Amino acid sequence: MNLPPQFQFSQSSLQDFVDCPRRFYYRYVLDLQYPAPQSAPLQDFELHMQQGEQFHRLAQQAIIKIDPAAIEETIDDDRVFGWWQNFRASGLVGLPDKQRCPEITLSVPLAGRRLVAKYDLIALGEDRAVIVDWKTALKPPRRDTLERRLQTIIYPYVLVKAGAHLNDGQPIPPENVSMMYWFTEFPDQPQVFSYSAAKFAEDGAYLERLAADLLARSDETAFPLTDEVYKCKFCTYRSLDQRGVKAGDFRDQADDEPEQAPGVLGVSLDQIAEIEF
Ligand code: SF4
Repeated sequence: MNLPPQFQFSQSSLQDFVDCPRRFYYRYVLDLQYPAPQSAPLQDFELHMQQGEQFHRLAQQAIIKIDPAAIEETIDDDRVFGWWQNFRASGLVGLPDKQRCPEITLSVPLAGRRLVAKYDLIALGEDRAVIVDWKTALKPPRRDTLERRLQTIIYPYVLVKAGAHLNDGQPIPPENVSMMYWFTEFPDQPQVFSYSAAKFAEDGAYLERLAADLLARSDETAFPLTDEVYKCKFCTYRSLDQRGVKAGDFRDQADDEPEQAPGVLGVSLDQIAEIEF
């Protein structure tokens, strides 16, 4: 398959493959930039993406100990200000503080390529490591939706495999790892997932199988369109595939729909990185 030499696996690319192989093909094999809006109303959607990006920046600044008053002075948006207040009240409560690494990227080998994870925050203590992901969801996501996400599988896996340098050179045991989604709109409803050696082994085998399956596919016909047509509503390629012209409204996105718009899970760090490209 003609993947660009610089292609790296990530939670976004593998999630695309799982959600719709054709979407993966368009985005990563053809590098097809399609101009359709991903979600509607376009202005609200873009504003939400910008608000999410700004929130991530503020949270990072807080963690590297920039004066909160100085941070606050830069906020000119009411929604972001509300998120910031929620973050100040509970965003970091209970997290280990021996070392806090915001906006850090780790990678591991996978099927001859690299698998990259971009973390909002890894908080380390003596005997635990918490992966924190901030989400600007407009609805509280269901736990089972989050549990199925490639992000929930990949982030702990990569930390265990590649996080020793954050832990005085010692590998971080899977049992010491957990992953927390913290929601700017729902600060009292974080979702925490614990980890284990058995899950680590299971996830590693799954990721190897998934990547091998993907790399074994040869041409466009091996990347079929999804049968789950609802996934097309928030996909930029929907008119190309004649799966609708009008973008779905990200505010109405249902819990079991993919994270193509920030309605359910909000803006994540790797989406921001993609926006910046
Ligand atoms: S429009 Fe639908 S079938 Fe086409 S790439 Fe997007 S999700 Fe897949």
